[in-house]
Amino acid sequence: MLPVCRRSSRIVKKIKNVTKTHKRALSTQDVIEREEKYVAHNYHPLPVALSKGEGVFVWDVEGKRYFDYLSGYSANNFGHCHPKIIKALQDQSTVLHHTSRAFFSDQLGAYSEFVTKLFGYDKLLPMNTGVEAGDTACKLSRKWGYRKKKIPKDQAKIIFAANNFWGRSLAACSSSTDPSCFRDYGPFIPGFSCVPYNDLNALEKFLQDPLVCAFMVEPIQGEAGIKIPDEGYLKGVRELCTKYNVLWIADEVQTGLGRTGKRLAVDYEGVKPDILVLGKALGGGVYPVSACLADDDVMLVMEPGTHGSTFGGNPLACKVAITALAVLEEENLADNAFKLGEIFRIELRKKLNNGNPIVNTIRGKGLLNAIDINTNIVDAWDICLKLKENGLIAKHTHDCTIRFSPPLTITEEQMKESIDIIVRTITSFDTTQ
Ligand code: PLP
Repeated sequence: MLPVCRRSSRIVKKIKNVTKTHKRALSTQDVIEREEKYVAHNYHPLPVALSKGEGVFVWDVEGKRYFDYLSGYSANNFGHCHPKIIKALQDQSTVLHHTSRAFFSDQLGAYSEFVTKLFGYDKLLPMNTGVEAGDTACKLSRKWGYRKKKIPKDQAKIIFAANNFWGRSLAACSSSTDPSCFRDYGPFIPGFSCVPYNDLNALEKFLQDPLVCAFMVEPIQGEAGIKIPDEGYLKGVRELCTKYNVLWIADEVQTGLGRTGKRLAVDYEGVKPDILVLGKALGGGVYPVSACLADDDVMLVMEPGTHGSTFGGNPLACKVAITALAVLEEENLADNAFKLGEIFRIELRKKLNNGNPIVNTIRGKGLLNAIDINTNIVDAWDICLKLKENGLIAKHTHDCTIRFSPPLTITEEQMKESIDIIVRTITSFDTTQ
């Protein structure tokens, strides 16, 4: 065993060597090999190594430009390095970045007032990631169930839609119907059940149980493959939850903030969930910010010291989030997503769905779109690789669906250019075998 001072000088040397490697230009292969070696293998990234982003574009370490059609899983609704969001981040970081909620700050109240007024709720509970906000919504519902609905102690049930995805915590795995999410992570949290998505009759049967405190659902299921429910489903959910005194939790972490062509996806049916869960784009793509919104009747069941997060509601997060929301409104990004989403689907259907055997369906709302691939001809992964070669990065969800979700700041001209890439790529595969 080396003495402590010699060991630490060796470590310092190693760190200096790592810094040196940072200075020499790394190839894509170098970047991939280093990540594979030092980072846990819990993702399977596309082999592209990015080093710069601006607007709808990203560049790899060799300087090649790509359209970003994933937008960091819909966190980058405002594109890369939006000047107003970056300025807010920079300005606030030099003034006050973190306080904890042991104290008041001049930012949290301003931010919460802005958000609650924008979405029409009494209060906001700040968290950091989407899964934390989902977990918060479940805790809030259980507590409401005991305090207000008078469910007997520890018997509250929460119903989820089958094929939901709301993150990777144990609670999220406990409600998942996807083996890749829950396998080997048991035992699971009790009191969770799943009901088929888009099925109001099935939902009503579950909600009749007086032990149910909440139903949690995404207005459009994102990770499940951009699954859009029938018109009237969200209204029906609202009515059933009201009828049976059950809280409706809408997980708008992916669908919210303009992504589907409205400020919220529930706006398509003009309905208000009891608990609204937001995340991803709320942090402008530069900082993890999430939130639960609810009215006082629900939110005030949380008392001091019963729930929280060290970083939730920190001044930097608040400043970034309020700026991101201001950009969403000022730049009419929901309208842009609506308009360009229509163009995207119309053009692709015209050019691909009328006869190309690789494409089974093209669907979406706003700029949350998906193409189902006929995997008897080609894998979605191979299409993503070819798209990358042609200058557009996108990722598949499940084996047969490719999600297309560019930043909402995309222009019509950029959209047309990227449609050309998608069409050229898909039609380049041999469909004769
Ligand atoms: N909810 C939905 C609908 C999501 O799509 C996701 C992530 O993809 C989450 C919650 C979890 O968000 P996070 O990864 O920030 O925890």
